[in-house]
Amino acid sequence: MENCSEQIDIEKKKKYTWKGRYVSEKVYNNRVRMSKASKKIKRQTDEKEESSVVQGNRIVNFKVMMDHMICGFCKEKLSLEFMEKEHTIGLASILSIRCNACLKLNPVPTSNVRTSQLSKRPRYDINVQSALGALHAGLEYSQLENLFAVLDIPAPTAMSFKEHESLVGKAIEQVAKYSCDQAAL
Ligand SMILES: [Zn+2]
Repeated sequence: MENCSEQIDIEKKKKYTWKGRYVSEKVYNNRVRMSKASKKIKRQTDEKEESSVVQGNRIVNFKVMMDHMICGFCKEKLSLEFMEKEHTIGLASILSIRCNACLKLNPVPTSNVRTSQLSKRPRYDINVQSALGALHAGLEYSQLENLFAVLDIPAPTAMSFKEHESLVGKAIEQVAKYSCDQAAL
């Protein structure tokens, strides 16, 4: 019986995974607690603290990024080698890269940003696109969060996701209304 219960314990432990890796129940619970505490602090905003070392994966629009890989002060080409910080806004990042010639810091975005009548402030394309993708695929925030955890991509906060989901919902409504109006003519 002991062996049997040990085996059940082992099987139970195997079910705990964090960011794609098997962890013990204790480690899992600690990570969940820390993650919840961290999210509580950050839930008012989708902007996260600056990190000096970029870890994990990112979704990058290379065209947008390459267009900004030139110093705004002396026009010298910038190099990722001299990246000092990363500031994330949902899935978008603003990289701070120091110019090797004039030594000034330049902001380099990884996604296009634009304004629309539906939003009071500018939104990054990747954040709107991920909300549209989730809606299209029928994914809820928790499922999207799990997907990003396995992909090792820093996930947007729940609040940020909901904001963009609502924005996309309004846009879809407007398009549907426009189509109906056109059909009625
Ligand atoms: Zn420069």
